[in-house]
Amino acid sequence: MKAFSYEKAGDAAEAAARATQVDGAKFIAGGTNLLDLMKHEIETPMHLIDVNGTGLDSIERTGDGGLRIGALVSNTALAADQRIRRDYPVLTRALVAGASGQLRNKASTAGNLLQRTRCPYFFDPAMPCNKREPGAGCAALHKGAVTRQLGVVGTSDHCIATHPSDMAVAMRVLDAVVESLDADGNERIIPLADFHKLPGDTPHIESALAPGEIITAVTLPPPAGGRQAYQKVRDRASYAFALVSVALILQEDGTGRVAMGGVAPKPWRMDEADAELPNGASAVAAKLFDEARPTPENAFKITLAERTLAAMLAKD
Ligand code: SF4
Repeated sequence: MKAFSYEKAGDAAEAAARATQVDGAKFIAGGTNLLDLMKHEIETPMHLIDVNGTGLDSIERTGDGGLRIGALVSNTALAADQRIRRDYPVLTRALVAGASGQLRNKASTAGNLLQRTRCPYFFDPAMPCNKREPGAGCAALHKGAVTRQLGVVGTSDHCIATHPSDMAVAMRVLDAVVESLDADGNERIIPLADFHKLPGDTPHIESALAPGEIITAVTLPPPAGGRQAYQKVRDRASYAFALVSVALILQEDGTGRVAMGGVAPKPWRMDEADAELPNGASAVAAKLFDEARPTPENAFKITLAERTLAAMLAKD
C-alpha cells in the first residue's frame, strides 16, 4: 500500500472543502471497498478525509412522508430500520443480499453507491483497463477474456463492467434521490437514475459527482406500496456478486416497476419496460435488453434475467 496522510472532518462542508484543497484526496467512511483497492494499489489516494464524524448517520421522515437516509447510515442499520422494513421491503431484501454481515456493519449508504466494479481485470494491474487507466484498453474485450460476470447492456467499446451494488438496484426501483454538497457549499439533488454514468468513451467517470462533491443523504419518496421483492441469482448462496438481480414492485392491477442488477454499468431500469409488466416477463425483458450486446460467455444473463422476473411474477 502506498503511503498516505489522513485527517478527520467535523462536518460535510469541511470535508468537501478539504477535498478540493488537498491534492489526491479521497473520502473514507466504512472503507470496505476503498481499503481493498488501496491494498491492491488500484486506488492510491495521497490523502484520506475520514467523514465518520460528520453526523450524517440518521434516518429521518421527510415532510412528504418519505425517508431521508444519512450518507453514513450503515447497510446493517438501514436494513433493520422498522420504517424501511415495513414501507420499503425491497430495500431491506436487497441490503441483506449484499456482502456479509461484517461488511454490512461497516459499509455506508454513500459508499455502497460509490463502490467500484468487480471486473477481474480492473483488479489486476498487469492487465489493461480503461477504467483504471484511461486510454489503456480493455482486457475484458480481448479474445478469450473471462466475461461471465460482466455487463450485457449499457456497455461500450471501452468498458463492459457492471455496477456491483444490490442496494442501488432497490433504490433505483424506489425512485431514490441523492443529495450532495460541494466545496462552495452548494447543495444538489441528483435522481439516482442520473447518478451512475454509462461508460461511453470515459469509463473512468462513474458518477455525476464533481471532484470534492460529497453525498450527504439519499432520499426515498413516500412508500410505493404493492408487493415488493428482490431476487439475486449468483454462483454461490452468499457473499457473491449478482449474475442477475431483480428488484420488483408490483401493484394489484399488474402494473409496477422493475430494475435489474448485474447486467449493466448502473442499475438498469426503463420506463418502457415498466409499462410492459402487465404483459409478462418476456415483454419486459425485450425492452430492457433491446440494445444488449452480450459476449458469447455472458449472453445467458438475458435469459436468466427474464426467467428470474417470470418466477417472481408467478408468485402469489
Ligand atoms: Fe476495465 Fe471496464 Fe474493461 Fe473491466 S470491462 S477491464 S473495468 S475497462
